[in-house]
Amino acid sequence: MTRIVLLGPPGAGKGTQAARLADALGVPAVSTGDIFRANIAGGTELGRTAQGYTSRGELVPDEVTNAMVASRLAEADAAAGFLLDGYPRNVAQVSELDAILARHGVRLDAAVELTADTEVVVGRLLHRATVEGREDDTEPVIRHRLEVYREQTAPIAALYAERGLLVRVDGIGEVADVTERLLTALRPAA
Ligand code: ADP
Repeated sequence: MTRIVLLGPPGAGKGTQAARLADALGVPAVSTGDIFRANIAGGTELGRTAQGYTSRGELVPDEVTNAMVASRLAEADAAAGFLLDGYPRNVAQVSELDAILARHGVRLDAAVELTADTEVVVGRLLHRATVEGREDDTEPVIRHRLEVYREQTAPIAALYAERGLLVRVDGIGEVADVTERLLTALRPAA
C-alpha cells in the first residue's frame, strides 16, 4: 500500500519522476495537470472550464479540481495505492484529500517535496516551451505559476511536516539519480 503526494514547484520534474516512481512502486500516477490537459485536448466541458485558468497559470477552482480527484481516486486501480502529482495545491485541497481518504478508510504514507531552485525551474520550463509548446509555458505565465506555488502550495509542506509525513528530495541532477534518491527516501514509507 503506497499512498503518496508529490509536491514541488512547476518545473521541478514532478511529472517525469511521478511516472517513474509509480512504475517502480506499482501504483498509478495521478496528475491533475495531465487530466486537465487531456480534457482540454478532448474538448470536454471540464476542459473548457479548466482552460480559462490553466492558460493564465491560475489554479482551477477547488470545487472542480476536488470533484475530479475524488472521482479518479474512487477508480479500482487506485484502491491499492497512488501517487498524486499536482494535488493538493493549497490548504483547502489538503483538507479535501483528508476527507476523500477518510471515506476510503485509508491514510497518506508520505508527502514528498521535490526541491529545485527558481532560476533552474524557469530555465527548464522555457526550454520545455520550445519542445512541447505548452500554452502555460510562456515567461509571464511561468512566473505567475511560481508565485501561485510560493503563496498557496509551498505552505502545505509545513502541514505535512507537522504530521511527520514530509520527505524532502533534491530535484536537481540526472533523471535516474533523482528517481534513486526518491526511492531511497521513500523506502521506510513504501
Ligand atoms: P506545473 O506543476 O508545471 O505548473 P501542472 O501540469 O501540474 O503544471 O498543472 C498545470 C495547471 O493545471 C496549473 O497551472 C493549474 O492551472 C491546473 N492545476 C493542476 N493541478 C491543480 C490543482 N490541484 N488545483 C487547481 N488547479 C490545478
